[in-house]
Amino acid sequence: MSRVKRLSWILLACALAVIACDRDKDSTAQNTTVSASAPAIRPLNFPADDGPLPSADGDRAMQYVKEIVKFGPRPLGSASHKKVEEYISSHLKGDQVEDDIFTADTPEGKFPVHNIIAKYPGTKDGIIIIASHYDTNYPLRNTSFVGANDGASSSGLLLELANHLRGKQREGYSVWLVWDDAEEAMKPDGSGGQPNEMPFSADSLYGITHLAEKWQADGTLKKVKAFILTDMIGDADLNVERETNSTPWLEDVVFEAATRLGYQSHFFARRLEVSDDHLPFLKRGVPSADLIDFTYGYNVAYWHTTEDTVDKLSPRSLQIVGGVVLETLRILDKMDPLPPK
Ligand SMILES: [Zn+2]
Repeated sequence: MSRVKRLSWILLACALAVIACDRDKDSTAQNTTVSASAPAIRPLNFPADDGPLPSADGDRAMQYVKEIVKFGPRPLGSASHKKVEEYISSHLKGDQVEDDIFTADTPEGKFPVHNIIAKYPGTKDGIIIIASHYDTNYPLRNTSFVGANDGASSSGLLLELANHLRGKQREGYSVWLVWDDAEEAMKPDGSGGQPNEMPFSADSLYGITHLAEKWQADGTLKKVKAFILTDMIGDADLNVERETNSTPWLEDVVFEAATRLGYQSHFFARRLEVSDDHLPFLKRGVPSADLIDFTYGYNVAYWHTTEDTVDKLSPRSLQIVGGVVLETLRILDKMDPLPPK
């Protein structure tokens, strides 16, 4: 993940302030008459909870994560980046795969960027995207930073999800898994005292922005019903934020899925605004949710540091998020029609 970043504690403080504000708002609301012009909020109608509930294999997902990390730092343009591209593709043999390859013009020069998309067809008209970036932070390229949580955890989880999706036509929407590239900003994010002279939005999210633009141009985007991003979801102390840019109804579906699986205590206790790979789809009208646990280590100590290593992760966290994503898909398949964008 590239950003919440230098503002992490300010934002966390803000998040706490938001929680406090919400509480204040609630207490005020008890004494206030609701305005007749207030828009009606229709509760979501969830389909029946008719099991069996899905489960992801956390140990197998963790094995993938470890194998990705073993290649070492994988910044844009590096040999290990290329090896990770090949590693991901090698696990998708026999699947319908689209390679989206282009050259990104960045403040550090031109780099090849490679998005990998695996497509699992369904019976319903429409596509749900599950995404994860796999590159590591470029400014940390000369350190031992391997992004075990930041990039590898979610990329390994997507490989595990592929195991659940392949080999049968889905009774529901088509699901596309996207391993996107060049998510991280190329210039330092300021944590090292060197503020990026470019706006964050112009120096990050290169891969996913390219995909969103391409799919908008060729009409694919109209078919995308939801975009679910996974990022930094391997932390052994798993607390997925309610990310405030995300589409509220889609987050409600995620929470319903978590509740059905008994994992709700790991979701949405905090609110936090994060600039992440979901923004290019969100901006283009696609309902989008960022499943991210940004509070990684005390005082976010492990994020974008050489401390982001596999010993901080847990197969259980991968199992939880994997199960919740699979159950979210199952609920979305049966919600007809989906809420408006
Ligand atoms: Zn990052």
